[in-house]
Amino acid sequence: MNALEVKNLKVIFPTEMGIVRAVEGIDIEIEQGKCAAIVGESGCGKSVTSLAVMKLLSTPPAIVRVDKLELGGTDIKGLTDKQMQKVRGKDVAMIFQDALTALNPVMQVGKQIDEIFLAHNLSDGENGKTGRVNRKKEAKRRTIEALKLVGISDAELRYKAYPHQLSGGMRQRVLIAMAFACNPNLIIADEPTTALDVTIQAQVLDVLKDLQRKRNTSLMLITHDLSIVMNMADEIYVMYCGKIVERGTTREIFKDPLHPYTMGLLGSIARIGDAKSRFVQIPSSLPSPIHKPSGCYFHPRCQYAGERCKTEMPPLEKLEGGRCVRCWNYKEIKNGKNG
Ligand code: SF4
Repeated sequence: MNALEVKNLKVIFPTEMGIVRAVEGIDIEIEQGKCAAIVGESGCGKSVTSLAVMKLLSTPPAIVRVDKLELGGTDIKGLTDKQMQKVRGKDVAMIFQDALTALNPVMQVGKQIDEIFLAHNLSDGENGKTGRVNRKKEAKRRTIEALKLVGISDAELRYKAYPHQLSGGMRQRVLIAMAFACNPNLIIADEPTTALDVTIQAQVLDVLKDLQRKRNTSLMLITHDLSIVMNMADEIYVMYCGKIVERGTTREIFKDPLHPYTMGLLGSIARIGDAKSRFVQIPSSLPSPIHKPSGCYFHPRCQYAGERCKTEMPPLEKLEGGRCVRCWNYKEIKNGKNG
């Protein structure tokens, strides 16, 4: 059974300037215990996808349509906000990129983790004051354990710290501790290390990977940086302008990218370790989400674009073993006959 199954997810934002089709009918499946990365430039729709899966988008203004939305085989498509509050934290949790925004600035970090245990994990037990005191003590004990688990030293001391008193790396570890607190089946990490310098980034990713594998938690990792998914993800979805343009195992994507956009994303990594000539840089930037190009959305930036690319959107073609690619010319590009 898949930890997450999404079929035909669409998210639209009507604005005064026009309609923004942020996500255009994407499918995602994540097996239990596996990590899937959603990769693409800022504005490609990956964060909107994660918020839609968590049912955190305000509707209106957003219009969300999905044929199937299941967590561990349970349909959550029709759940109300109140019902989702019981699911979030317990069955699915999120790690946001900006810990300073995600954490309450005027509350000790330990107390913030306690709240998750109190809301989901600890039964009411006996009634009255003694019961409440015991629950709080148990929550604190579990919080300190959780802080130690993510490598925070002096956990008893840090429990009392406010977010601004911790370093960026430590705040991100607190978010990881919060996400794993109730041992959810699925964790969604949205650019979890973007705000950190490279060394701290590697340490925080190690903590995340280690816990995910030990707990057999499924992970949906959202990032613009393909290099960080190399050692994390089992599978990669490459997103462009609200559509999946390529999907494959991490090995397939790194060893043999089929879509020119994926090749471009890999360009900077290729310069370091791979001298394959078909790796290219991507010229220009993402088109306006209101005025997307005709045909293949990538054609104005694609060195392999032909006439058909300018008028017809290629389908997401399913290849062997779950691999998918959305490109009219991928076979010719692969064989080096085009461009
Ligand atoms: Fe490039 Fe055409 Fe393939 Fe789009 S369909 S990625 S424009 S070659």
